[in-house]
Amino acid sequence: MRAIVLDSANTPLRLDMNRPLPEPGAGQVLIRVRACGVCRTDLHVIDGELPHPKPALIPGHQVVGIVEQVGPGAERLTTGDRVGVPWLSWTCGVCEYCRSGRENLCDNARFTGYDLDGGYADYVTADERYCFPIPGAFGDVAAAPLLCAGLIGYRALRMAGEAGRLGIYGFGAVAHIIAQVARYRGQQVFAFTKPGDAAGQAFARSLGAVWAGGSDERPPEQLDAALIFAPVGGLVPAALAVTEKGGKVVCAGIHMNDIPAFPYRLLWEERTICSVANLTRRDGEEFLTLAARIPLRTITTKFHLSAANEALAALREGRVEGAAVLVP
Ligand SMILES: [Zn+2]
Ligand SMILES: [Zn+2]
Repeated sequence: MRAIVLDSANTPLRLDMNRPLPEPGAGQVLIRVRACGVCRTDLHVIDGELPHPKPALIPGHQVVGIVEQVGPGAERLTTGDRVGVPWLSWTCGVCEYCRSGRENLCDNARFTGYDLDGGYADYVTADERYCFPIPGAFGDVAAAPLLCAGLIGYRALRMAGEAGRLGIYGFGAVAHIIAQVARYRGQQVFAFTKPGDAAGQAFARSLGAVWAGGSDERPPEQLDAALIFAPVGGLVPAALAVTEKGGKVVCAGIHMNDIPAFPYRLLWEERTICSVANLTRRDGEEFLTLAARIPLRTITTKFHLSAANEALAALREGRVEGAAVLVP
């Protein structure tokens, strides 16, 4: 099969035309990939900011495809099912986190496109228990960004609570989905982009943001909560400074550069800062049902599988409107 391979950190990905087809193990299925979303986490893996990926890794953890073969013991899925494969690919089921409904924090968790090969390829294998059925309302390409951008964004949104006035820092793939969910829930969205990014601000307004401006600007009103999707630590004190008493700042990325020191008064009056890690299968089921009900409209830019490096460069430079998706 064709696959895009990471040989070592900080080198371009390599197209392998003859990667052996993976065999589904016990409880796994073999999936023919129809689309795979490109996520900022893929950049963190490629840049070595997430250490020790699997050797000769195939990245990609927003996979939509069709089950082509069922491994021994797999019985939930059958040939022909259309499924999604997310970031969380396996949990132990016995650690204290798994036993308390927090499998996103599992001590022994494995992740797609990091510990296990992902979807930048013609085929991928996955444990059937961690795959999600894809609602019929979404085409393959449209569904791909739901699997990480949508899901992790949804977990971050829930973490922020009822916030009527919600700030979103970094208006890319995640924000363009989550702004729609927030609006559906009756929340007002205030979008923060890189200073001077007029196109990003117009994009945010087109998705219903009541205000859009640079991350160095003050919104017209104080916020009840803020979600930070950009990997920029300096946004944490910036967000705290425009957040109401008792408000919450949620950091939703897997990696962020250092948060600069800031005066205690920005945190004072019961403001909180927290992070969001990974997803649970329950998040996925809830979110995909909600996505079909709203229904969410994802905006995607398609790249051929062989143009993976190009897609990643476009993401890195902020040139992708909505989400980048690879198609084999
Ligand atoms: Zn566990
Ligand atoms: Zn991701």
